Amino acid sequence: LLSVRGLRKSYGAHEVLRSVSFNLDRGERVAIIGPSGSGKSTCLRAINYLEPPIGGEIRLNGELIGRRAGRRGGDRRMTDAELAPQRAQIGMVFQLFHLWPHLTVRENVALQPHKVQGLSAAEAFERADAMLAKVHLLNKSDDYPSRLSGGQQQRVAIARALAQAPALLLFDEPTSALDPELVGEVLTVIQELAAEGRSMLLVTHEIAFAREVADRVIFMDGGVIVEEGPARAVLDDPREPRLRRFLQLVA
Ligand code: ATP
Ligand code: MG
Repeated sequence: LLSVRGLRKSYGAHEVLRSVSFNLDRGERVAIIGPSGSGKSTCLRAINYLEPPIGGEIRLNGELIGRRAGRRGGDRRMTDAELAPQRAQIGMVFQLFHLWPHLTVRENVALQPHKVQGLSAAEAFERADAMLAKVHLLNKSDDYPSRLSGGQQQRVAIARALAQAPALLLFDEPTSALDPELVGEVLTVIQELAAEGRSMLLVTHEIAFAREVADRVIFMDGGVIVEEGPARAVLDDPREPRLRRFLQLVA
């Protein structure tokens, strides 16, 4: 489904991603773990070109993301308008929920299907309600986000990502901004999506959750993949000393 090859990104002289390559098959759940600053968020944001990489290529279902053939040979970066249909294939959930405060929960979820996918308002609201039911928040659809707890707001953000009918879901530390007692309800929803067979790439520091939900784990440090493999093998029997140290620190 997703193929990332030789992905590179720098900020000034600082190389944040130094040739990152991996695949994610349809229906597969992959967790990315690693210390702060190792490039995990940058990697997710490069995949949908929120942070255009400076090298490498990303393919979703074989289609090159973010670049197309230029008029004078070679390739060029796509415009945001050209990128929009590709980004719709990739649903992203951030650490902070970024809901629109002036829109109700239902309107937040219906916005993209209505504005970008061209569903009628009635169709978009219907889809929004179906997605809100999935995250167990149908009863909150007429509320404004400020009335909701952080865990509920994050579940709305997940419903919003689902409403664009993406082929792939990206989660960037979806529970790290939440009070501890609200983490469980968000992890439960992610687990239910995993059980539906959805393809997902999840950055998390919840190691126990990664072990439970992920098929494969990628450990990043210093902008490279240091170790990757089946979740249990990587987490319970790490080979790389750097990963061993990291797991001791976060456990
Ligand atoms: P964390 O676990 O803290 O979220 P991370 O693995 O997600 O860390 P990134 O956010 O990808 O790390 O950042 C990787 C490196 O790139 C860090 O050193 C960070 O300071 C730097 N960086 C990220 N975004 C920018 C930016 N917009 N401008 C300059 N440097 C940046
Ligand atoms: Mg991050």
